[in-house]
Amino acid sequence: MRQPVVRCVAFVELVTDWEEGALGDDERVDLEEHMAICPPCVQYIKQLRLTRAVLRETAERYGQNGGAPPPAARATLLEEFRRQRGG
Ligand SMILES: [Zn+2]
Repeated sequence: MRQPVVRCVAFVELVTDWEEGALGDDERVDLEEHMAICPPCVQYIKQLRLTRAVLRETAERYGQNGGAPPPAARATLLEEFRRQRGG
């Protein structure tokens, strides 16, 4: 089996730059090759985007610009998740 040019650790470090289009052509191609052969990293990107979407929504709701949600917001989120599940 072919070894990936980019290792998963490097992938995680570079993926933010990749999303912002800040990588050079060589790095970008290496990263995209890695994605083609490494489903866990594709899954990682999906989770990263989901997490960001939740954080952004929370930040908007609480009038903040980015950053981690305060503990109270996190508790509220967890509460909402539980309510949506009907439990
Ligand atoms: Zn990987």
